[in-house]
Amino acid sequence: MPLKDYVMEVEERYLAKVFQRFPVVAVRGKGALLWDVDGKTYVDCMGGYGVALVGHCHPEVVRAVKEQAELLISCHPSLYNDARARALESLEKIAPRGLSRVFLSNSGAESIECAIKLALRYTGRKEIVAMTGSFHGKTLGALSVTYNKKYRSPFEHALYQHVRFARYGDSEDAGKLITDETAAVIVEPIQGESGIRVPPEDFLKNLREASSRAGCLLIADEVQSGLGRTGKMWACEHWDVTPDILCVAKGMAGGIPMGATFAVDEVMGSFKLGEHSSTFGGNPIACAAADATVNVILKEGLVERAAEIGTYFKERLVQLQNSHSVLREVRGRGLMLAAEAKIEIQEVLMGLIRRGVVPLYSGRNILRFLPPLVIERDQVDFVVESLDAALADEE
Ligand code: PLP
Repeated sequence: MPLKDYVMEVEERYLAKVFQRFPVVAVRGKGALLWDVDGKTYVDCMGGYGVALVGHCHPEVVRAVKEQAELLISCHPSLYNDARARALESLEKIAPRGLSRVFLSNSGAESIECAIKLALRYTGRKEIVAMTGSFHGKTLGALSVTYNKKYRSPFEHALYQHVRFARYGDSEDAGKLITDETAAVIVEPIQGESGIRVPPEDFLKNLREASSRAGCLLIADEVQSGLGRTGKMWACEHWDVTPDILCVAKGMAGGIPMGATFAVDEVMGSFKLGEHSSTFGGNPIACAAADATVNVILKEGLVERAAEIGTYFKERLVQLQNSHSVLREVRGRGLMLAAEAKIEIQEVLMGLIRRGVVPLYSGRNILRFLPPLVIERDQVDFVVESLDAALADEE
């Protein structure tokens, strides 16, 4: 049996059936490229849902992981570790001003769980204001602040009950929901899963002010938008806002699972010994990879690169809109982009795959682009030309 068929058959047989899957068996990656089991090359616009920030198998990340694997693979945070110390210093170099304490975990959802507990613990309050269209993960706490009914409704009975949803982008609506029982406002500075939504200019600033006035914490979920993705180190910087708690994950360790919750010292200090923990959080392999990843982002100027190449990518998508009336809107910042169509895009996605692009989507009609920040101009051209042809097939 060909390897491709074997892999797909075994995964279909054993893996939980919770993922919408594309028929690509990826075996190798480099930069913004992926290769499948038959040697076909793809430009990766999914980037592991935004994980491949510094590109697949960045040599500095590979070296750091290999070297650390020879030394020590696991080390519970009850013991000190040199790789962890180096990662912490690197992370603090790029953390928003004042967010000088960090809890290390293993995923985006875990970084959110920590943030929610921290806000409840610090304020002693119980209500949380989240946003319509939000996505924060699928563990019970994170799901409780996630808006999408499709994800929530089967578990509604088990979710945290003290969450209210304000209209994303409408700070007045949020203002009405913030009370003296509100522990935190949680927001994606630019929403990802809902199809790359950039809020109005004053939205985050107003949320910041309203939170401070009410004595509650502002939690920024930058799991998808952080670490240069939008052309700033943190998307919050587009509006000059500093949150009290910042959630990070996805590409922070070059593809090795890792999450982090940053907070101001006083807030993180509200956790007493043992009130939160993680066996794997801050393990040496992830830490060595995170240290290397942060250094690559800084050394290679990837934040500036995301701004520059993202602008080019967006311009090319806007040009495409002129020749394809099915494209309703192009939006996003840096390399966090979307093109919303007036039609269902399932066949367009398959057309992209046939032409050698691994695509990403939101819902049924939004093409989403989260490529590695190292994507080259000619690779962007290839993606846009492939999309041009894939759209033409459907018109
Ligand atoms: N928060 C945001 C903004 C995300 O985009 C995601 C995942 O896509 C998460 C949280 C959850 O991250 P994870 O899948 O690593 O749990």
